[in-house]
Amino acid sequence: MSFTLAIVGRPNVGKSTLFNRLVGRRLALVDDQPGVTRDLREGDARLGDLRFVVIDSAGLEMVEDGSLQGRMRRLTERAVDESDICLFVIDARIGVTAADEYFADILRKRAKHVILAANKAEGAAGEAGAAEGWSLGLGEPIQISAEHGEGMEDLYRVLKPLS
Ligand code: GDP
Ligand code: MG
Repeated sequence: MSFTLAIVGRPNVGKSTLFNRLVGRRLALVDDQPGVTRDLREGDARLGDLRFVVIDSAGLEMVEDGSLQGRMRRLTERAVDESDICLFVIDARIGVTAADEYFADILRKRAKHVILAANKAEGAAGEAGAAEGWSLGLGEPIQISAEHGEGMEDLYRVLKPLS
């Protein structure tokens, strides 16, 4: 059985980088896909033997004014509602922020399954920030580096039983 995975989190944590890594070469097709709304980017992902649909909340980068928080909430809620699993991404180099806590609350109430990922965890610079992720009450933060392709086996291990 396949599933839909939504990548959610505040801007700049690396959601789109992870999306691109999971979608790989087929990214070019993404924009042509019918039914893709402007702000939620959708693609066919593969990770090991898993095949699934991945959603990236791509519209967030474009907003720089005070409406960001409301817009982020609405986009996140849509991504949550259209997915079976949410991959909530935080920045391991920064640690948990107030915005992360705000999103964790939404996800706890609304999402069917939440997986927490601490991105930018390559090297040692992310260790403390990733450990802070435990405080969100969403279980163990999976340490990944979307840019360098690290932690993908751990992500696979968590997703496989849910597939
Ligand atoms: P989004 O706003 O959440 O979609 O984040 P982006 O995917 O656009 O990435 C934001 C910035 O973080 C970019 O400069 C990326 O190159 C950088 N970035 C993404 N993943 C990683 C990572 O694993 N390690 C590091 N060091 N930087 C990353
Ligand atoms: Mg993005």
